[in-house]
Amino acid sequence: MEFGYTEEQLMFRDSVYKYAKKEIVPLVEEADLNSEFSMEVWRKLGEMGLLGLPFPEELGGSGASVVTCCLSTEALGHAGVDQGHLLALGAHTYLCADTIFKHGSPAQLKKYIPKLASGEWIGCMGLTEPGAGSDAASITTTAVKKGDKWILNGTKTFITNAPLCNVCVVYATVDKALKHNGITAFIIERGFPGFSTGTPFHKMGVRASATSEVIMDNCEVPEENLLGEVGKGFGYTHETLSWDRSALLAPFVGGMQFAIEACTKYSQERVQFGKPINAFQAIQHKLADMKIVKEAAKMAVYQVAHDKDSGKPLNHMHTSLAKAIVGDWGMKAASDAVQVFGGYGYIHEYPIERFLRDAKLGQIGGGTSEVQRLIISRILSFM
Ligand SMILES: Cc1cc2nc3c(=O)[nH]c(=O)nc-3n(C[C@H](O)[C@H](O)[C@H](O)COP(=O)(O)OP(=O)(O)OC[C@H]3O[C@@H](n4cnc5c(N)ncnc54)[C@H](O)[C@@H]3O)c2cc1C
Repeated sequence: MEFGYTEEQLMFRDSVYKYAKKEIVPLVEEADLNSEFSMEVWRKLGEMGLLGLPFPEELGGSGASVVTCCLSTEALGHAGVDQGHLLALGAHTYLCADTIFKHGSPAQLKKYIPKLASGEWIGCMGLTEPGAGSDAASITTTAVKKGDKWILNGTKTFITNAPLCNVCVVYATVDKALKHNGITAFIIERGFPGFSTGTPFHKMGVRASATSEVIMDNCEVPEENLLGEVGKGFGYTHETLSWDRSALLAPFVGGMQFAIEACTKYSQERVQFGKPINAFQAIQHKLADMKIVKEAAKMAVYQVAHDKDSGKPLNHMHTSLAKAIVGDWGMKAASDAVQVFGGYGYIHEYPIERFLRDAKLGQIGGGTSEVQRLIISRILSFM
């Protein structure tokens, strides 16, 4: 499948790659090692315009297509930027800011998008709860209208960027009996009474992204911070989902390419039994397998991006295929990469061990591999 990138898109991809290699990659190893989000990395992403790509110029963005957004996050992953900072970017731009952009009032767009697009403010999106993960429609955070305010009560968990956020798009229910038809979105600013975030979790991977709970304890949200329409929030998560399966997966595709190049080079240089290890068929097959996964993942991710750019309705087969390929096969490719490096793949001095830790999130975050299979098999049974 060839989606026919324009010259301009390829030049942009190249410039992001070169910029990231020079300006960002030298900062990420330490951030990952210390499980610390780097404000310097964030500032550099903002300076390159990568935090506001899909928004119009008048709101501080570049009006980029979905394919272009994917090319940028893929290039960052390919350059060697850690998946932690890239998840932070994804949650900020695509899960938080874009939801405001798509469903916000003109006043909300004017107030929030320029600050988010520049990176001056950091955004997050809170859907998952301690008791509602895969079954997102069962959220129990409540929103009750009192006078000119909404009062929110509940806890969100695993929220990327929460400890650093200035703004959080939160989903709550106005009536649990309505199930998904009661789910409503709100824009909450840090500083609104009753809003707080928890202690950052210590994570297996994507360590430079900051993750915590978001707590709403009689949180007062002004009427003008209702996002879109009451009861339409669950539908908005579908928009989020299409970004989750495109611009948020593309960094993993780039990361696979990074690992393939690192493994190819290492296997040519590492000598055992008097030969470079890439003379052994077992190693050659691992490199070939990684390439197969990367190309399949790339096609699947750009298929979703292409669908989205064409304005087609969300194709759940395409989105679930992309998520499952990147998640499950990506995990296998990451494990193969560590294997090619042998003992050196297991220690931190080489970025390959980070690649394996980060890849595991692909099977969990934003919809698990099991749920993708459930969706794929349901669609198959209706075909
Ligand atoms: C690092 C990180 C960052 C995250 N960032 C965010 C964020 O920014 N915002 C946000 O809202 N959420 C975020 N999440 C939450 C993430 O989307 C959820 O973890 C994910 O959807 C799975 O939910 P769960 O963890 O509750 O697992 P559960 O849903 O409890 O699943 C547990 C196990 O049961 C399986 N399972 C569940 N239901 C079924 C079924 N019907 N059939 C078969 N198997 C099933 C799952 O596949 C899994 O193996 C993040 C999570 C992580 C780890």
